[in-house]
Amino acid sequence: MAKVSIHPAVDNGFKPAKKDFAGGTLTCKCTTNPVEVKISAQTAHNHACGCTKCWKPAGATFAVIAVVGRDKVKVTKNENKLKIVDPSATIQRHACKECGVHMFGRIEKKEHPFYGLDFVHTELSKDEGWSPPEFAAFVSSIIESGYKPEGMGAVRARLRELKLEPYDCLSPPLMDFIATHIAKASGALK
Ligand SMILES: [Zn+2]
Ligand SMILES: [Zn+2]
Repeated sequence: MAKVSIHPAVDNGFKPAKKDFAGGTLTCKCTTNPVEVKISAQTAHNHACGCTKCWKPAGATFAVIAVVGRDKVKVTKNENKLKIVDPSATIQRHACKECGVHMFGRIEKKEHPFYGLDFVHTELSKDEGWSPPEFAAFVSSIIESGYKPEGMGAVRARLRELKLEPYDCLSPPLMDFIATHIAKASGALK
């Protein structure tokens, strides 16, 4: 049986984070005048994502996406090529108008649990030392992109083999983080 392909950057395993790694530059896929985004910190919560909204390279089953503080994200070249994919979405994904790559996703709703964090794809960087993927989120959602439901057992088995525990929403620590934020806002938690 052919091996299940998750994403080119994870299929053959991945390197551990470099100690004291402090960021790097993301570049879109345009061969001329690419958009550049400078990230001036290590990323966190890197994960494979099966949702239908995250950008992924052609042929990939999952996206790979991490978070970093929004104050650590700065567009340094060709900002005029960026547009927001869906202005009504919670995460405003800033994509290159030419090559379609999402350079960063930002939440503008101040009350959102993840406000202050931007979503980035570190595979767009040549720098080595980024935090590696730790789990797989929204795994069942790959079916929404057309993945055959009968293949899901093999997908989850492969993710476990890669030590990317599969979840059908976010990981338990992130779900707890969201619930805590909501409970504090409602007053259920003091
Ligand atoms: Zn581009
Ligand atoms: Zn996603």
